[in-house]
Amino acid sequence: MSIKVKTIVRNGRSWQERLYLIEVFKGMAITFRHFLSNFLDNSKLAVRHYPEVKPEITPRWRGRHRLTTHEDGTIKCVACYMCQTNCPAQCIQIEAGERGDDRTEKVPVKFDIDLLECIYCGYCVEACPMDAIRMDTGIFSVTSSTREEMKMSIDQLLATKGAFSEEEYKKGGA
Ligand code: SF4
Ligand code: SF4
Repeated sequence: MSIKVKTIVRNGRSWQERLYLIEVFKGMAITFRHFLSNFLDNSKLAVRHYPEVKPEITPRWRGRHRLTTHEDGTIKCVACYMCQTNCPAQCIQIEAGERGDDRTEKVPVKFDIDLLECIYCGYCVEACPMDAIRMDTGIFSVTSSTREEMKMSIDQLLATKGAFSEEEYKKGGA
């Protein structure tokens, strides 16, 4: 089978193109035309006007963590260390203590997550046998001016509520 070859005739650059300056001005004119039209009317821009317009968060989206509680308000976590063991970033630090009720033996007395080291992989949520840790807070803007504030304590993790109802979370396939 013969191969069809198409020969492109190269005419070389014209003297205007070889001068470059004219082409540079042409390019700048296009840039300024777009800049001015978008500056005067940005309604057609295909960008999100963050932070005025927040991104849409679904239950499958992994945001900042939280620790969940039973209906009576007691912590679900049983300090089994599964999340800490599975965390590839090793950013979870748990210390177990006696629970003191007849639910389970242990409860975490310390549960820290260093968000500066977290890679938001969701393995901790997957590994948890108790559905005690979730990333359904819808918090995507995690900022701070100090490293210390980026370390979430057990109280902060318990204080944060989920952004979805139980039905929405389960339907989201989490
Ligand atoms: S999301 Fe991943 S990196 Fe972050 S705490 Fe969970 S397991 Fe660790
Ligand atoms: S959050 Fe879940 S996996 Fe982690 S220690 Fe508590 S019960 Fe175990």
